Amino acid sequence: MNRPVLGIPQNTIDILQKYNFSFQKKFGQNFLIDTHVLDKIIRAADINKEDMVLEVGPGIGTMTQFLAEAAGKVAAVEIDKNLIPILNDTLAGYENVRIINDDVLKLDIRGLISEENEGKPIKVVANLPYYITTPIIMGLFEEHVPVESITVMVQKEVADRMQTGPGNKDYGALSLAVQYYAKPYIVANVPPNCFMPRPKVGSAVIRLTCHERPPVAVEDERLMFDIIRASFNQRRKTLANGLNNSDKIAFPKEVIMDAIEQLGKGASVRGESLTLEEFARLSNALAQRPCPDGDF
Ligand code: SAM
Repeated sequence: MNRPVLGIPQNTIDILQKYNFSFQKKFGQNFLIDTHVLDKIIRAADINKEDMVLEVGPGIGTMTQFLAEAAGKVAAVEIDKNLIPILNDTLAGYENVRIINDDVLKLDIRGLISEENEGKPIKVVANLPYYITTPIIMGLFEEHVPVESITVMVQKEVADRMQTGPGNKDYGALSLAVQYYAKPYIVANVPPNCFMPRPKVGSAVIRLTCHERPPVAVEDERLMFDIIRASFNQRRKTLANGLNNSDKIAFPKEVIMDAIEQLGKGASVRGESLTLEEFARLSNALAQRPCPDGDF
């Protein structure tokens, strides 16, 4: 079938004009208009005809066309109902694409995967709406949705935060959460002129290859993430004070100090210097102590 490749800017302009489409800022609509970037994303996602791909926010179908050529099946979830007739046009003839008009944060993705892929792990590929990058990615991880890899365009600063380690100013709760569930790799930086309209921020493609098992053994995941959040919520404080001041951590200060000492760290240590493995050890040490509020 001879359909216009939307990664070519003039073809995108033609479709937008044909449907008199107005961009909605609230939905983070910045459409890709660069075929080299699209090729790079598809290559990094490493898709083949055995794969089911979930695309979040297909827009006018620019990346969906590339995904449909490479994958066995594509489920494309788009919130903006004005884009649905456009997608039906630009993706006409692709038998392996299912367009779903829904909010991805409300969709039963697990149910979709059982229905369309017998519950087997899928690949997520998207030029994400930046305003919900973290809830989308953390939702997939925390709900243990069967996902093999996530290859997505995100704000450059967010990609840096996901990939970095201790000692870097970008290191924080997002870095540790992402690295607990996946191995991050920044594939490419992408400038604003590759999008229509141009975003105000730089972008990057990041691939997160999901771990089959987390790289560290954690007795109580919720406790570890409460500890991580408490440590970074009060960056200027020592780790002990950060944890002691948090209403999520109910251990007495001497118990906290003792657990920090077991790590081989001094009283002045800050959370931002701890690795994922050290946070896991700290949380395992605390998980063995009786909690004063009787949570355990
Ligand atoms: N994939 C297209 C491209 O690369 O040209 C569009 C990407 S654009 C950055 C983000 C897309 O996500 C938009 O089409 C937007 O309407 C859609 N979107 C925003 N919020 C969404 C949500 N909660 N659920 C599903 N789609 C959403």
